[in-house]
Amino acid sequence: MDEKALDGTRKLSEWVRACPSGGMVFFGGAGVSTESGIPDFRSAGGLYSLKYPYPPERMVSRSFFDARPGEFFDFYFDRMIAQGAKPNAAHLKLAELERRGTLSAVVTQNIDGLHAAAGSRTVFELHGSVLRNTCMACGRPFSLEDMLELRRASRDGVPRCACGGIAKPDVVLYEEPLDGEVLEGAIDAIARADLLVVAGTSLAVNPAAGLLRYFRGSHLAIVNLSPTPADSSADLLVQAKVGEVFSALA
Ligand code: ZN
Repeated sequence: MDEKALDGTRKLSEWVRACPSGGMVFFGGAGVSTESGIPDFRSAGGLYSLKYPYPPERMVSRSFFDARPGEFFDFYFDRMIAQGAKPNAAHLKLAELERRGTLSAVVTQNIDGLHAAAGSRTVFELHGSVLRNTCMACGRPFSLEDMLELRRASRDGVPRCACGGIAKPDVVLYEEPLDGEVLEGAIDAIARADLLVVAGTSLAVNPAAGLLRYFRGSHLAIVNLSPTPADSSADLLVQAKVGEVFSALA
């Protein structure tokens, strides 16, 4: 971390310590999980720059899922599941801040379930989670382990329920709407926050950027390696890895 990022981390640490009970909300993206070994969809070198027969945005769209489930699940299990990924310093610190009563909620664009794995309780997963899966025909729920087993048992690699229906990940695909309740919960948490920390997201994809408009609190901090469209409205910018910043917070 350079001198400027260290200064920023110290400032953020002061704000966290001075934050009224339940006044902190965290809003994170892919950069929160890269240190857990989960590839960043949109950054160079990440998923989207890899060569596949179709553009990745299309492969994770609902119309592609419906038309070519076999190819969808090849891509999904190959590139979107990181088996054995563990929470990193950022996930763990956020869970600790919630236990201490400082943090009221985590809002995340990630689908890896690592906040819950770290012990966070109030987590709004805007894009769903790979840990939850549902049969499209009968509604039976499946874990990620179940999905891997169903895939192994399937001739075409498409995980299927005993009823014959496709077991679909509860992940929001392109062309699909966000879950209304999750979105409302996220908006409500951000609207009540006094300190909002936005981290590991380029804020390039909606509704991420739009959600910040609901913030009315005292301090907006952005922790990200590259600039974001919201930088000009932030009270503090820290250009560093999310895990490094959070492990340095007191
Ligand atoms: Zn079923």
